Amino acid sequence: MKRKRNISVLFVAYEAAPFFKKGGLGDVMGSLPQALSLLGVDARVVIPYYHQTKRNYPQERIGILTFMFGSDKKRVGVYKGIFPHSSVPIYFLENHKRLNLTNVKVRKIEQYVFFDLAIFHLMRFLKRKEKWTPSLIHCNDWQAALVPLLAKRLNPPIPTLLTIHNLLYQGTGSLRVIDLLGLQESNMAEIKKDSPANELNLLAEGILHATRVSTVSKNYAREIMTNKHNGFIYNIIQKRMRRLKEKKGITGILNGIDYNIWNPLHDPILKIHFDQKNWKENKNLIKDGLLNDLKLPMRPTFCFIGRITPQKGLDILMKAMKRLVKLSINIIILGTGNPIIERKLNRVSHRFSNHVRTEFLYNEEYAHRLYAGSDYILIPSHYEPCGLIQMIAMRYGTIPIAAKTGGLADSIQHSKTGFLFKRNSPRSLVHAVKNALRILSSEPLHEKMVEAAMLKDFSWGKSAVLYKKLYESIHY
Ligand code: ADP
Repeated sequence: MKRKRNISVLFVAYEAAPFFKKGGLGDVMGSLPQALSLLGVDARVVIPYYHQTKRNYPQERIGILTFMFGSDKKRVGVYKGIFPHSSVPIYFLENHKRLNLTNVKVRKIEQYVFFDLAIFHLMRFLKRKEKWTPSLIHCNDWQAALVPLLAKRLNPPIPTLLTIHNLLYQGTGSLRVIDLLGLQESNMAEIKKDSPANELNLLAEGILHATRVSTVSKNYAREIMTNKHNGFIYNIIQKRMRRLKEKKGITGILNGIDYNIWNPLHDPILKIHFDQKNWKENKNLIKDGLLNDLKLPMRPTFCFIGRITPQKGLDILMKAMKRLVKLSINIIILGTGNPIIERKLNRVSHRFSNHVRTEFLYNEEYAHRLYAGSDYILIPSHYEPCGLIQMIAMRYGTIPIAAKTGGLADSIQHSKTGFLFKRNSPRSLVHAVKNALRILSSEPLHEKMVEAAMLKDFSWGKSAVLYKKLYESIHY
Protein backbone atom coordinates (compact mmCIF):
# COMPACT_ATOMS: atom_id res chain seq x y z
CA MET A 1 0.00 0.00 0.00
CA LYS A 2 1.23 3.50 -0.88
CA ARG A 3 2.08 5.50 2.23
CA LYS A 4 0.66 8.99 2.45
CA ARG A 5 3.28 11.73 2.79
CA ASN A 6 3.07 14.19 5.64
CA ILE A 7 2.47 17.42 3.88
CA SER A 8 4.29 20.58 4.93
CA VAL A 9 3.54 23.87 3.21
CA LEU A 10 5.09 27.31 3.24
CA PHE A 11 2.63 30.07 2.26
CA VAL A 12 4.20 33.11 0.63
CA ALA A 13 2.16 36.32 0.45
CA TYR A 14 2.50 40.04 1.06
CA GLU A 15 -0.21 40.15 3.74
CA ALA A 16 -1.64 37.90 6.46
CA ALA A 17 -4.25 38.93 9.05
CA PRO A 18 -4.00 39.98 11.80
CA PHE A 19 -0.35 40.99 11.31
CA PHE A 20 -0.96 43.02 8.16
CA LYS A 21 -4.17 43.15 6.15
CA LYS A 22 -5.34 45.24 3.21
CA GLY A 23 -7.97 43.02 1.64
CA GLY A 24 -9.25 39.49 1.10
CA LEU A 25 -5.81 37.88 0.63
CA GLY A 26 -4.93 38.94 4.18
CA ASP A 27 -8.04 37.16 5.48
CA VAL A 28 -7.16 34.00 3.54
CA MET A 29 -3.57 33.91 4.79
CA GLY A 30 -4.85 34.46 8.32
CA SER A 31 -7.19 31.49 8.24
CA LEU A 32 -6.40 28.83 5.61
CA PRO A 33 -3.02 27.77 7.14
CA GLN A 34 -4.73 27.29 10.51
CA ALA A 35 -7.55 25.23 8.97
CA LEU A 36 -4.92 23.07 7.24
CA SER A 37 -2.99 22.67 10.44
CA LEU A 38 -6.13 21.16 12.01
CA LEU A 39 -6.01 18.58 9.19
CA GLY A 40 -2.45 17.60 10.09
CA VAL A 41 -0.65 19.75 7.51
CA ASP A 42 2.51 21.44 8.81
CA ALA A 43 1.58 24.90 7.50
CA ARG A 44 3.76 27.98 7.92
CA VAL A 45 3.55 31.46 6.44
CA VAL A 46 6.06 34.11 5.38
CA ILE A 47 5.35 37.79 4.71
CA PRO A 48 7.47 40.97 4.70
CA TYR A 49 8.12 42.59 8.08
CA TYR A 50 5.91 45.69 8.41
CA HIS A 51 6.24 48.39 11.06
CA GLN A 52 2.78 47.74 12.47
CA THR A 53 3.63 44.05 12.95
CA LYS A 54 6.78 45.01 14.78
CA ARG A 55 4.84 47.26 17.13
CA ASN A 56 1.81 45.08 17.82
CA TYR A 57 2.91 41.43 17.89
CA PRO A 58 5.61 39.49 19.71
CA GLN A 59 8.28 37.87 17.57
CA GLU A 60 11.91 36.81 17.89
CA ARG A 61 14.79 37.25 15.55
CA ILE A 62 16.10 33.86 14.45
CA GLY A 63 18.80 34.80 11.99
CA ILE A 64 19.90 36.75 9.00
CA LEU A 65 20.04 36.06 5.27
CA THR A 66 22.91 37.53 3.27
CA PHE A 67 22.82 37.53 -0.50
CA MET A 68 23.57 39.58 -3.61
CA PHE A 69 20.85 41.60 -5.30
CA GLY A 70 22.40 42.87 -8.52
CA SER A 71 25.75 44.25 -7.39
CA ASP A 72 24.57 45.02 -3.83
CA LYS A 73 25.12 42.80 -0.85
CA LYS A 74 21.86 42.62 1.12
CA ARG A 75 21.11 41.53 4.65
CA VAL A 76 17.63 40.39 5.58
CA GLY A 77 16.58 39.75 9.17
CA VAL A 78 14.41 36.67 9.72
CA TYR A 79 11.87 36.97 12.53
CA LYS A 80 9.49 34.31 13.77
CA GLY A 81 6.11 34.66 15.44
CA ILE A 82 2.96 32.67 15.84
CA PHE A 83 -0.64 33.24 14.75
CA PRO A 84 -2.77 34.21 17.77
CA HIS A 85 -4.69 31.27 19.30
CA SER A 86 -2.88 28.71 17.14
CA SER A 87 0.39 26.91 16.72
CA VAL A 88 0.99 28.04 13.13
CA PRO A 89 4.36 29.78 12.77
CA ILE A 90 4.85 32.90 10.70
CA TYR A 91 8.18 34.27 9.44
CA PHE A 92 8.76 37.95 8.72
CA LEU A 93 11.53 39.11 6.42
CA GLU A 94 13.07 42.48 7.15
CA ASN A 95 15.29 44.55 4.95
CA HIS A 96 16.66 47.67 6.63
CA LYS A 97 18.13 49.21 3.56
CA ARG A 98 15.20 50.33 1.45
CA LEU A 99 15.67 49.93 -2.25
CA ASN A 100 17.00 53.19 -3.53
CA LEU A 101 14.38 53.95 -6.17
CA THR A 102 12.22 57.00 -6.80
CA ASN A 103 9.79 55.58 -9.35
CA VAL A 104 6.93 54.09 -7.30
CA LYS A 105 5.93 51.44 -9.84
CA VAL A 106 9.53 50.26 -10.28
CA ARG A 107 10.08 50.33 -6.51
CA LYS A 108 7.01 48.16 -5.94
CA ILE A 109 8.05 45.57 -8.51
CA GLU A 110 11.66 45.45 -7.36
CA GLN A 111 10.66 45.24 -3.71
CA TYR A 112 8.72 42.07 -4.36
CA VAL A 113 11.34 40.61 -6.68
CA PHE A 114 13.72 41.15 -3.79
CA PHE A 115 11.23 39.52 -1.40
CA ASP A 116 10.96 36.49 -3.72
CA LEU A 117 14.74 36.17 -3.91
CA ALA A 118 14.85 36.35 -0.10
CA ILE A 119 12.36 33.43 -0.02
CA PHE A 120 14.81 31.40 -2.11
CA HIS A 121 17.52 32.03 0.50
CA LEU A 122 15.07 31.47 3.33
CA MET A 123 14.56 27.89 2.12
CA ARG A 124 18.24 27.13 2.64
CA PHE A 125 18.20 28.92 5.97
CA LEU A 126 15.17 26.98 7.28
CA LYS A 127 16.70 23.70 6.17
CA ARG A 128 19.87 24.45 8.08
CA LYS A 129 18.51 26.26 11.09
CA GLU A 130 15.07 24.73 11.67
CA LYS A 131 15.67 21.38 9.92
CA TRP A 132 12.55 22.17 7.93
CA THR A 133 11.91 21.95 4.21
CA PRO A 134 8.34 22.28 2.96
CA SER A 135 7.01 19.63 0.59
CA LEU A 136 5.45 22.49 -1.32
CA ILE A 137 5.55 26.30 -1.52
CA HIS A 138 2.13 27.88 -1.89
CA CYS A 139 2.65 31.23 -3.64
CA ASN A 140 -0.06 33.87 -3.70
CA ASP A 141 -0.54 36.53 -6.39
CA TRP A 142 2.07 38.42 -8.41
CA GLN A 143 4.06 39.50 -5.36
CA ALA A 144 5.11 35.86 -4.88
CA ALA A 145 5.03 34.87 -8.54
CA LEU A 146 8.78 34.61 -9.11
CA VAL A 147 9.11 32.01 -6.38
CA PRO A 148 8.05 29.12 -8.72
CA LEU A 149 10.96 29.94 -11.07
CA LEU A 150 13.42 30.30 -8.17
CA ALA A 151 12.18 27.17 -6.36
CA LYS A 152 13.12 25.12 -9.43
CA ARG A 153 16.73 26.20 -8.83
CA LEU A 154 16.87 24.89 -5.28
CA ASN A 155 18.69 21.65 -4.67
CA PRO A 156 16.52 19.56 -4.68
CA PRO A 157 13.80 21.71 -6.32
CA ILE A 158 10.58 22.30 -4.39
CA PRO A 159 7.21 22.04 -6.15
CA THR A 160 4.97 25.11 -6.12
CA LEU A 161 1.31 26.00 -6.25
CA LEU A 162 0.50 29.49 -7.50
CA THR A 163 -2.90 30.81 -6.45
CA ILE A 164 -4.30 33.74 -8.38
CA HIS A 165 -6.47 35.88 -6.12
CA ASN A 166 -6.97 38.59 -8.73
CA LEU A 167 -5.78 38.36 -12.33
CA LEU A 168 -5.93 42.13 -12.80
CA TYR A 169 -2.77 42.65 -10.80
CA GLN A 170 0.15 41.10 -12.66
CA GLY A 171 3.29 43.00 -11.63
CA THR A 172 4.93 44.22 -14.82
CA GLY A 173 8.38 45.69 -14.82
CA SER A 174 11.54 46.26 -16.75
CA LEU A 175 13.99 43.53 -17.67
CA ARG A 176 16.49 45.05 -15.19
CA VAL A 177 14.91 42.69 -12.69
CA ILE A 178 16.55 39.73 -14.41
CA ASP A 179 20.04 41.12 -13.75
CA LEU A 180 19.13 41.84 -10.14
CA LEU A 181 18.23 38.20 -9.71
CA GLY A 182 21.47 37.09 -11.33
CA LEU A 183 19.52 35.34 -14.10
CA GLN A 184 19.52 35.45 -17.89
CA GLU A 185 16.65 36.37 -20.21
CA SER A 186 16.61 32.74 -21.33
CA ASN A 187 15.66 31.66 -17.78
CA MET A 188 12.38 33.52 -18.11
CA ALA A 189 9.43 31.70 -19.57
CA GLU A 190 7.90 34.69 -21.31
CA ILE A 191 9.10 38.18 -22.06
CA LYS A 192 6.75 40.64 -23.69
CA LYS A 193 8.89 41.97 -26.50
CA ASP A 194 6.18 43.88 -28.36
CA SER A 195 5.07 47.45 -27.66
CA PRO A 196 5.06 49.40 -25.45
CA ALA A 197 8.43 48.07 -24.30
CA ASN A 198 10.38 45.04 -23.31
CA GLU A 199 8.59 43.97 -20.19
CA LEU A 200 8.59 41.20 -17.71
CA ASN A 201 5.25 40.11 -16.32
CA LEU A 202 5.76 38.46 -12.94
CA LEU A 203 2.37 36.74 -12.84
CA ALA A 204 2.96 35.28 -16.31
CA GLU A 205 6.30 33.84 -15.10
CA GLY A 206 4.48 32.34 -12.15
CA ILE A 207 1.77 30.80 -14.31
CA LEU A 208 4.31 29.23 -16.63
CA HIS A 209 6.76 28.02 -13.96
CA ALA A 210 4.45 26.86 -11.14
CA THR A 211 3.91 23.13 -10.76
CA ARG A 212 0.17 23.84 -10.45
CA VAL A 213 -2.02 26.92 -10.70
CA SER A 214 -5.25 27.54 -8.86
CA THR A 215 -7.68 30.33 -8.21
CA VAL A 216 -10.32 31.14 -5.62
CA SER A 217 -13.57 29.90 -7.16
CA LYS A 218 -14.59 27.43 -9.85
CA ASN A 219 -16.49 30.08 -11.75
CA TYR A 220 -13.52 32.49 -11.82
CA ALA A 221 -11.30 29.61 -12.98
CA ARG A 222 -13.71 29.07 -15.89
CA GLU A 223 -13.88 32.79 -16.61
CA ILE A 224 -10.11 33.28 -16.79
CA MET A 225 -9.59 30.19 -18.93
CA THR A 226 -12.15 31.38 -21.48
CA ASN A 227 -12.08 35.19 -21.41
CA LYS A 228 -10.09 36.21 -24.47
CA HIS A 229 -10.42 39.88 -23.44
CA ASN A 230 -7.68 39.20 -20.90
CA GLY A 231 -5.32 39.21 -23.92
CA PHE A 232 -1.72 38.54 -22.97
CA ILE A 233 -2.43 36.68 -19.75
CA TYR A 234 -5.20 34.64 -21.42
CA ASN A 235 -2.62 33.49 -23.98
CA ILE A 236 -0.20 32.61 -21.17
CA ILE A 237 -2.83 30.43 -19.48
CA GLN A 238 -3.58 28.71 -22.79
CA LYS A 239 0.15 28.22 -23.40
CA ARG A 240 0.56 26.57 -20.00
CA MET A 241 -2.40 24.27 -20.59
CA ARG A 242 -1.12 23.23 -24.03
CA ARG A 243 2.44 22.75 -22.83
CA LEU A 244 1.57 20.67 -19.78
CA LYS A 245 -1.38 18.97 -21.46
CA GLU A 246 -3.48 20.11 -18.53
CA LYS A 247 -7.02 19.22 -19.44
CA LYS A 248 -8.72 20.78 -16.47
CA GLY A 249 -6.31 23.71 -16.39
CA ILE A 250 -6.64 26.00 -13.41
CA THR A 251 -8.19 24.49 -10.29
CA GLY A 252 -10.86 26.56 -8.53
CA ILE A 253 -11.27 26.28 -4.75
CA LEU A 254 -13.66 28.67 -3.03
CA ASN A 255 -12.23 30.66 -0.12
CA GLY A 256 -13.76 30.39 3.32
CA ILE A 257 -13.92 32.85 6.22
CA ASP A 258 -12.53 32.57 9.71
CA TYR A 259 -15.46 31.65 11.94
CA ASN A 260 -13.56 32.72 15.06
CA ILE A 261 -13.31 36.27 13.79
CA TRP A 262 -16.59 36.52 11.91
CA ASN A 263 -19.06 35.33 14.51
CA PRO A 264 -22.06 37.53 15.41
CA LEU A 265 -22.52 35.63 18.65
CA HIS A 266 -19.06 36.46 20.06
CA ASP A 267 -17.80 39.38 17.97
CA PRO A 268 -15.84 41.52 20.49
CA ILE A 269 -16.45 44.65 18.40
CA LEU A 270 -20.24 44.38 18.82
CA LYS A 271 -21.98 45.35 22.04
CA ILE A 272 -25.08 43.34 21.12
CA HIS A 273 -24.74 39.78 19.85
CA PHE A 274 -27.02 37.45 17.96
CA ASP A 275 -27.41 34.10 16.21
CA GLN A 276 -30.05 32.59 13.92
CA LYS A 277 -32.55 32.38 16.79
CA ASN A 278 -32.54 35.95 18.06
CA TRP A 279 -31.18 37.91 15.11
CA LYS A 280 -34.37 39.83 14.48
CA GLU A 281 -34.55 41.89 17.64
CA ASN A 282 -30.80 42.19 18.11
CA LYS A 283 -29.86 43.11 14.57
CA ASN A 284 -32.54 45.76 14.78
CA LEU A 285 -31.00 47.22 17.94
CA ILE A 286 -27.57 47.35 16.27
CA LYS A 287 -29.12 48.97 13.19
CA ASP A 288 -30.88 51.53 15.38
CA GLY A 289 -27.59 52.52 17.05
CA LEU A 290 -25.79 52.70 13.71
CA LEU A 291 -28.45 54.85 12.03
CA ASN A 292 -28.65 57.10 15.05
CA ASP A 293 -24.92 57.75 14.88
CA LEU A 294 -25.16 58.44 11.16
CA LYS A 295 -28.28 60.61 11.55
CA LEU A 296 -30.26 58.50 9.14
CA PRO A 297 -33.89 57.50 9.62
CA MET A 298 -34.92 53.94 10.45
CA ARG A 299 -35.63 52.32 7.08
CA PRO A 300 -34.23 49.49 4.91
CA THR A 301 -30.45 49.83 5.02
CA PHE A 302 -27.98 48.75 2.36
CA CYS A 303 -24.22 48.87 2.80
CA PHE A 304 -21.14 48.61 0.60
CA ILE A 305 -17.79 47.52 2.08
CA GLY A 306 -14.64 47.18 0.02
CA ARG A 307 -11.69 48.62 -1.78
CA ILE A 308 -12.71 51.62 -3.89
CA THR A 309 -11.38 50.48 -7.26
CA PRO A 310 -12.97 50.21 -10.71
CA GLN A 311 -13.36 46.43 -10.14
CA LYS A 312 -15.89 46.95 -7.35
CA GLY A 313 -18.53 48.50 -9.66
CA LEU A 314 -19.23 51.72 -7.77
CA ASP A 315 -19.89 53.30 -11.18
CA ILE A 316 -22.88 50.95 -11.52
CA LEU A 317 -24.08 51.90 -8.04
CA MET A 318 -23.74 55.63 -8.79
CA LYS A 319 -25.64 55.28 -12.05
CA ALA A 320 -28.46 53.56 -10.16
CA MET A 321 -28.40 55.93 -7.17
CA LYS A 322 -31.17 58.33 -8.24
CA ARG A 323 -33.58 55.43 -8.79
CA LEU A 324 -32.46 53.69 -5.59
CA VAL A 325 -32.98 56.60 -3.21
CA LYS A 326 -36.53 57.00 -4.57
CA LEU A 327 -37.19 53.60 -2.96
CA SER A 328 -36.77 55.23 0.44
CA ILE A 329 -33.66 53.35 1.59
CA ASN A 330 -30.35 54.16 3.30
CA ILE A 331 -27.07 53.44 1.53
CA ILE A 332 -23.87 53.42 3.59
CA ILE A 333 -20.51 53.12 1.84
CA LEU A 334 -17.27 52.15 3.59
CA GLY A 335 -14.10 51.86 1.58
CA THR A 336 -10.86 53.42 0.55
CA GLY A 337 -8.80 53.55 -2.61
CA ASN A 338 -9.10 55.42 -5.87
CA PRO A 339 -9.39 59.20 -5.10
CA ILE A 340 -11.26 59.96 -8.34
CA ILE A 341 -14.01 57.44 -7.52
CA GLU A 342 -14.05 58.68 -3.91
CA ARG A 343 -14.62 62.27 -5.10
CA LYS A 344 -17.51 61.15 -7.29
CA LEU A 345 -19.03 59.24 -4.40
CA ASN A 346 -18.66 62.27 -2.21
CA ARG A 347 -20.66 64.36 -4.68
CA VAL A 348 -23.36 61.68 -4.81
CA SER A 349 -23.58 61.50 -1.03
CA HIS A 350 -23.99 65.30 -0.81
CA ARG A 351 -26.66 65.26 -3.46
CA PHE A 352 -28.61 62.53 -1.67
CA SER A 353 -27.66 63.47 1.87
CA ASN A 354 -30.95 62.20 3.32
CA HIS A 355 -30.11 58.70 2.12
CA VAL A 356 -26.39 58.20 1.55
CA ARG A 357 -23.35 58.17 3.87
CA THR A 358 -19.74 57.58 2.86
CA GLU A 359 -16.63 56.85 4.92
CA PHE A 360 -13.34 56.70 3.03
CA LEU A 361 -11.27 54.80 5.57
CA TYR A 362 -10.00 51.34 6.34
CA ASN A 363 -11.91 50.71 9.55
CA GLU A 364 -12.39 47.15 10.86
CA GLU A 365 -14.68 48.28 13.65
CA TYR A 366 -17.04 50.14 11.38
CA ALA A 367 -17.03 47.21 8.95
CA HIS A 368 -18.20 44.84 11.72
CA ARG A 369 -20.97 47.25 12.69
CA LEU A 370 -22.11 47.54 9.09
CA TYR A 371 -22.14 43.76 8.55
CA ALA A 372 -24.24 43.40 11.71
CA GLY A 373 -26.53 46.41 11.40
CA SER A 374 -27.48 46.42 7.69
CA ASP A 375 -30.34 44.56 6.04
CA TYR A 376 -28.52 44.14 2.72
CA ILE A 377 -25.02 44.42 1.28
CA LEU A 378 -24.59 45.69 -2.28
CA ILE A 379 -21.85 44.06 -4.37
CA PRO A 380 -21.98 45.48 -7.90
CA SER A 381 -18.47 44.20 -8.88
CA HIS A 382 -17.58 43.99 -12.57
CA TYR A 383 -15.73 40.82 -11.69
CA GLU A 384 -15.00 39.10 -8.39
CA PRO A 385 -12.55 36.17 -8.15
CA CYS A 386 -14.13 34.96 -4.90
CA GLY A 387 -15.26 37.78 -2.63
CA LEU A 388 -15.45 37.37 1.12
CA ILE A 389 -17.83 40.19 1.98
CA GLN A 390 -20.90 38.26 0.76
CA MET A 391 -19.92 35.33 3.02
CA ILE A 392 -19.27 37.53 6.05
CA ALA A 393 -22.52 39.42 5.46
CA MET A 394 -24.55 36.20 5.23
CA ARG A 395 -23.09 35.02 8.51
CA TYR A 396 -24.29 38.30 10.05
CA GLY A 397 -27.79 37.87 8.58
CA THR A 398 -27.23 40.57 5.97
CA ILE A 399 -28.49 39.53 2.55
CA PRO A 400 -26.13 40.06 -0.44
CA ILE A 401 -27.37 41.70 -3.63
CA ALA A 402 -24.53 40.91 -5.99
CA ALA A 403 -23.49 40.92 -9.63
CA LYS A 404 -23.60 37.44 -11.14
CA THR A 405 -19.89 36.89 -11.62
CA GLY A 406 -16.97 34.80 -10.32
CA GLY A 407 -17.18 33.60 -6.73
CA LEU A 408 -20.32 35.66 -6.07
CA ALA A 409 -22.25 33.34 -8.40
CA ASP A 410 -20.65 30.31 -6.71
CA SER A 411 -21.52 31.33 -3.15
CA ILE A 412 -24.95 33.02 -3.38
CA GLN A 413 -28.10 31.06 -4.21
CA HIS A 414 -30.38 33.44 -6.06
CA SER A 415 -33.66 34.09 -4.21
CA LYS A 416 -32.62 31.73 -1.45
CA THR A 417 -29.62 33.23 0.32
CA GLY A 418 -29.36 36.46 -1.70
CA PHE A 419 -30.00 38.09 -5.05
CA LEU A 420 -27.86 37.93 -8.18
CA PHE A 421 -28.23 40.54 -10.90
CA LYS A 422 -26.81 41.01 -14.39
CA ARG A 423 -23.25 42.27 -14.27
CA ASN A 424 -22.59 45.89 -15.42
CA SER A 425 -26.30 46.71 -15.39
CA PRO A 426 -27.61 49.54 -13.14
CA ARG A 427 -31.13 48.64 -14.29
CA SER A 428 -30.71 45.06 -13.16
CA LEU A 429 -29.29 46.28 -9.82
CA VAL A 430 -32.37 48.48 -9.23
CA HIS A 431 -34.61 45.57 -10.15
CA ALA A 432 -32.80 43.32 -7.62
CA VAL A 433 -33.16 45.97 -4.88
CA LYS A 434 -36.92 46.25 -5.60
CA ASN A 435 -37.14 42.48 -5.41
CA ALA A 436 -35.32 42.50 -2.07
CA LEU A 437 -37.64 45.18 -0.68
CA ARG A 438 -40.65 43.10 -1.70
CA ILE A 439 -39.25 40.16 0.26
CA LEU A 440 -38.39 42.43 3.21
CA SER A 441 -41.99 43.59 3.41
CA SER A 442 -43.18 39.99 3.87
CA GLU A 443 -41.88 38.94 7.26
CA PRO A 444 -41.95 35.14 6.81
CA LEU A 445 -40.18 35.30 3.44
CA HIS A 446 -37.48 37.63 4.76
CA GLU A 447 -36.96 35.53 7.89
CA LYS A 448 -36.62 32.40 5.78
CA MET A 449 -33.99 34.04 3.61
CA VAL A 450 -31.95 35.47 6.49
CA GLU A 451 -31.95 32.17 8.30
CA ALA A 452 -30.95 30.25 5.16
CA ALA A 453 -28.06 32.72 4.65
CA MET A 454 -26.92 32.52 8.28
CA LEU A 455 -26.92 28.73 8.21
CA LYS A 456 -24.77 28.47 5.08
CA ASP A 457 -21.39 26.98 5.94
CA PHE A 458 -18.55 29.19 4.74
CA SER A 459 -16.00 28.01 7.28
CA TRP A 460 -12.64 26.84 5.91
CA GLY A 461 -13.31 23.18 6.71
CA LYS A 462 -14.47 22.04 3.25
CA SER A 463 -12.02 24.12 1.23
CA ALA A 464 -9.05 23.17 3.43
CA VAL A 465 -9.75 19.50 2.63
CA LEU A 466 -9.73 20.36 -1.09
CA TYR A 467 -6.40 22.19 -0.74
CA LYS A 468 -4.92 19.26 1.13
CA LYS A 469 -5.98 16.92 -1.66
CA LEU A 470 -4.53 19.30 -4.23
CA TYR A 471 -1.20 19.43 -2.35
CA GLU A 472 -1.12 15.62 -2.20
CA SER A 473 -1.52 15.49 -5.99
CA ILE A 474 1.42 17.85 -6.66
CA HIS A 475 4.80 16.25 -7.33
CA TYR A 476 7.70 16.98 -9.55
P1 ADP B 1 -10.79 42.00 -2.04
O1 ADP B 1 -9.93 40.81 -1.72
O2 ADP B 1 -11.00 42.23 -3.50
O3 ADP B 1 -10.34 43.23 -1.34
P2 ADP B 1 -12.85 40.58 -0.53
O4 ADP B 1 -14.33 40.66 -0.53
O5 ADP B 1 -12.26 39.25 -0.87
O6 ADP B 1 -12.28 41.72 -1.47
O7 ADP B 1 -12.27 40.96 0.93
C1 ADP B 1 -12.35 42.23 1.48
C2 ADP B 1 -11.94 42.15 2.95
O8 ADP B 1 -11.44 43.42 3.36
C3 ADP B 1 -13.13 41.86 3.87
O9 ADP B 1 -12.64 41.26 5.06
C4 ADP B 1 -13.65 43.26 4.18
O10 ADP B 1 -14.39 43.31 5.40
C5 ADP B 1 -12.34 44.03 4.31
N1 ADP B 1 -12.42 45.45 3.96
C6 ADP B 1 -12.39 46.01 2.72
N2 ADP B 1 -12.44 47.35 2.79
C7 ADP B 1 -12.51 47.65 4.10
C8 ADP B 1 -12.57 48.89 4.83
N3 ADP B 1 -12.58 50.06 4.21
N4 ADP B 1 -12.61 48.83 6.18
C9 ADP B 1 -12.59 47.64 6.81
N5 ADP B 1 -12.54 46.44 6.20
C10 ADP B 1 -12.49 46.46 4.85
